[in-house]
Amino acid sequence: MQHLSQRFTRFGFHARLALHSPSPVRRLTDLIIANILFNLPVTLRKQLFVGERSFCPLCHSHLSGFLNLHRPYHRWCPVCRSLQRHRLIWLFLERFTMITPEQPQTMLHFAPEPGLARRFAQMPYLRYITADRFDRSAMMRLDITTIPFDENTFDLILCSHVLEHVPNDRQAMRELYRVLKPGGSALILVPIQGEHTFEDATITDPLLRERYFGQFDHVRMYGTDIIQRLQQAGFQVQAVSVSDIVTTQAEIEWMGLPVNETIFACHKEGGIAP
Ligand SMILES: [Zn+2]
Repeated sequence: MQHLSQRFTRFGFHARLALHSPSPVRRLTDLIIANILFNLPVTLRKQLFVGERSFCPLCHSHLSGFLNLHRPYHRWCPVCRSLQRHRLIWLFLERFTMITPEQPQTMLHFAPEPGLARRFAQMPYLRYITADRFDRSAMMRLDITTIPFDENTFDLILCSHVLEHVPNDRQAMRELYRVLKPGGSALILVPIQGEHTFEDATITDPLLRERYFGQFDHVRMYGTDIIQRLQQAGFQVQAVSVSDIVTTQAEIEWMGLPVNETIFACHKEGGIAP
């Protein structure tokens, strides 16, 4: 019963978000479709969307295609709900063997994406903790600018599309650095446009934020100079793109990967760059 009420609350929360968008009808329609679809059993979704046109490396499903929902550029896996960047993160972790059974690790995952979270939770050798400021389904509700863990706690941190929501992102970066173990890695992703970060705390109107920052609840649009911010927090930063992970356009299409997404692989001194 509590589970159902939580789902209903989450739907209401997302519906309110959709109403704030510049295209509320499309967003609400997509939200209803997604809500019906993703409440169907996984086995049924696999049968409905089985095909040879696409492949999700995260849930290993052969698909008739990915789904465009919520935003025109989104390509959802109908089985595990992964987006392009989630599949890229998974392939990155596999490609650079970031998680192995031979070496037990402790991982902190912010704003856990369902497809990724399910895979991590299945790894018995991973001490896996999910965290979010608002989402009650996460294991911990916490503020990323005051992470309630000792320094040098985590081997791996995943923080994807979170910092663009955080007013004091420099403090968040310092906190991520503090709780990361020497030799550990934090994988950080944010929307990027151009070279210079644009932020203006006086822009609070949802429609203006959508126009200037790309989404109604974003507080800035990062440029590639995020690398300097991360370095100022103490990290050694390596920018990884899809071409560092797969080699052909056919693979990018087949697995529905993003061509304009960068994974900032952030290492704490003592680490080994992948
Ligand atoms: Zn999938």
